[in-house]
Amino acid sequence: ATPLALIRGGGLAANRGILMRSGDAFQIFQDVDTVVLDKTGTITRGKPAVEEVVALGRNEADTLDRDEADTLDRDEADTLDRDEADTLDRDETDVVRLAASAEVFSEHPLADAILDYAHEHNVEFPTPDEFDSVTGKGVRAETETARILVGKPAWLTETGIDLTAAQDDIDRLQGRGSTVVCVAVTESRRDSADAAEVVGLVAIGDPVKNDAAETVERMQAVGVTPVMITGDNERTANAVAERVDISRVMAGVLPDDKRDEIRRLQEGGERVAMVGDGINDAPALTQADIGIAIGAGTDIAIESADIVLVGDRLGGVMDAYEIGTSSYRKTK
Ligand code: ADP
Ligand code: MG
Repeated sequence: ATPLALIRGGGLAANRGILMRSGDAFQIFQDVDTVVLDKTGTITRGKPAVEEVVALGRNEADTLDRDEADTLDRDEADTLDRDEADTLDRDETDVVRLAASAEVFSEHPLADAILDYAHEHNVEFPTPDEFDSVTGKGVRAETETARILVGKPAWLTETGIDLTAAQDDIDRLQGRGSTVVCVAVTESRRDSADAAEVVGLVAIGDPVKNDAAETVERMQAVGVTPVMITGDNERTANAVAERVDISRVMAGVLPDDKRDEIRRLQEGGERVAMVGDGINDAPALTQADIGIAIGAGTDIAIESADIVLVGDRLGGVMDAYEIGTSSYRKTK
């Protein structure tokens, strides 16, 4: 029979928007030493927006402008970036057009950010004839005039596209915590993908949740180690982790590998709670000792979880932890 104190804990939890899908979940909290947090939508708000568009292969006048911007102080440079982003020049408009065409059928939050940006800037784009998405990497599409690849730098490199000309911009944007999406194109659809060339970058930012840093502090206060896991690249992941004071980061983890990373921690003797929101996180939520789905979440994430947090607050994780550990102690 379920001890009375646990039922009481459950009621308290429900009042705070913490729903239990498994009776033992709360009991396990006292053994948990590691909480693995997905980045996008769990630590961050999950509503990414385009911050900057970079057209590569600019003319010399543009390059000169950029050198000048480098000598400005941070605030001035920010203003400049924002002004630049508000009025797109012809090359930047082309980058946005290509990216939007490729992403129009994608359901990824990064795709939404790109499409919103295209609409806000009245950039018209053709619907592709063919579309294909590669989970955790990006999308491929073909319009009447172009074959387009939009995705993470590592994926473009993997497909044989040379990113040398883009590397400085990629480093700069990732270093400040943006997710960089590369836009590559072959002008004629008859050409092979190998001939594709990177034409621009879209820097997308997703601010961390208001209570993220405070929740990480609560974990550290009770001796629980927070770990960030993400499919995003290491530089961006580290910049975000630094903002919330997480020092253990697993970056560049493909969706299917998230589960393996959890298993590896468990094999190393850690008891692991995993917090995530996406379809990508479902196998990891199932593998963890406690799986916690957060926010509106996807149905699949919710079905794979032991605990569901109704709101977007990351603090719900530690509310659940505290209710779980104190309820269990009452039953001893
Ligand atoms: P996370 O683990 O942070 O939730 P995902 O596993 O969904 O992220 O994606 C990992 C990375 O793959 C993204 O950061 C992005 O660089 C790239 N990516 C995935 N889908 C797309 C897409 N539709 N368009 C552009 N880039 C994408
Ligand atoms: Mg996610």
